[in-house]
Amino acid sequence: MRDKTKLVTVGRDKAATGASVNPRIARASTILFDSVADMQRAFAGKDQGVEFYGRRGTQTTFALTQAMRQLENAAGSYIYPCGTAAITAALQSFLAAGDHLLVVDSVYEPTREFCDGTLARFGVETTYYDPLVGADIIELIKPNTKVIFLESPGSLTMEVQDVPALAHVARQRGITTIIDNTYASPLNFKPLDVGVDIVVHSATKYLNGHSDVMLGVASATESHWPQLQARSYELGLCTSVDDIYTTLRGLRTLDVRLREQASNAKTIADWLSSHEAVDHLRHPAFATCPGHEYFVRDMAGASGLFAFVLKQNQTAAVNAMVDGMRYFKLGFSWGGYESLILAASSFKRRRTATAWDESKCLVRLSIGLEDPQDLIDDLRDGLDRYAEALQ
Ligand SMILES: *Cc1c(COP(=O)(O)O)cnc(C)c1O
Repeated sequence: MRDKTKLVTVGRDKAATGASVNPRIARASTILFDSVADMQRAFAGKDQGVEFYGRRGTQTTFALTQAMRQLENAAGSYIYPCGTAAITAALQSFLAAGDHLLVVDSVYEPTREFCDGTLARFGVETTYYDPLVGADIIELIKPNTKVIFLESPGSLTMEVQDVPALAHVARQRGITTIIDNTYASPLNFKPLDVGVDIVVHSATKYLNGHSDVMLGVASATESHWPQLQARSYELGLCTSVDDIYTTLRGLRTLDVRLREQASNAKTIADWLSSHEAVDHLRHPAFATCPGHEYFVRDMAGASGLFAFVLKQNQTAAVNAMVDGMRYFKLGFSWGGYESLILAASSFKRRRTATAWDESKCLVRLSIGLEDPQDLIDDLRDGLDRYAEALQ
């Protein structure tokens, strides 16, 4: 079955849908059994999609886990209340006191905070590595290195990693790899197919796609699934079936949304690439993006997220641009149907292993489903305000 067909078909077993097209929203804490024998049968099947207790999920939950498992070519998928919970649970599942962890320097900031905070308190040491390190990661591996964490591309500075090379080195040494694949979605990149052990998504972004749900998912290979599942369950992580239903609904249209948003983003990036205020683009499909060659080699396409770097980092001028935008809204998150803008003027807290030129300002755009010409007009006016306010 191809991905487009999977998006429409998976997670629609009769057990979940009854006679309707979509799964029922089965809200439950207690699951009732007909007899002791029935309860024992449910206990035996509790890890294989049999309803047992609300925290383990109901048929609504299993519809989404089945869908994600098939989209990722994984042995199993677990749903979390947000992407951050999926990341922290995956890390906790494979780390213990005294272990060493390697994390990409371009990582999503809350992931870094978890490593420097909770993991450090529990005796896990983290080393950050250059996103372009590739197979040279060998030099950073210690005898107690247990996990390598990847995010490709980084969701702010957009460096694309050589994922197969890192996965290969890790697997030879028995080190677990976890990747944050939120940018690509399972449609543009399937990390488990190139040797990664666990793939994590903030489903808050493209998978749901409508800016109205927080949700995360992690999927694992045969060798890593039992441990991920057991430890995630121990952590007490469970997710509202209403949010799961909404995400599953969003997932059905992922392909059309993603392709349209990627196409709009490409049009806008092309326009920005020749603007005089712009130093360079951080869009994986453009040669100016670090790791562009890995994007070309490994990914089926781009998404709607990219950044451009302004030659001058003057706060008042950047604010004048952002404050006056008509269609681009100012806010965190991304991957919804609406366009967002976010300026990052400093990376001092965000990077430790690699340098960022603080004399330039990175502006990130999440491109939505508006007419791209309206978005270009909005950016043109914004960059005019920026130029006028420059000193
Ligand atoms: C937003 C985001 C997360 C966290 O997801 P939440 O659902 O907001 O917790 C993780 N990784 C990346 C790359 C993100 O953009």
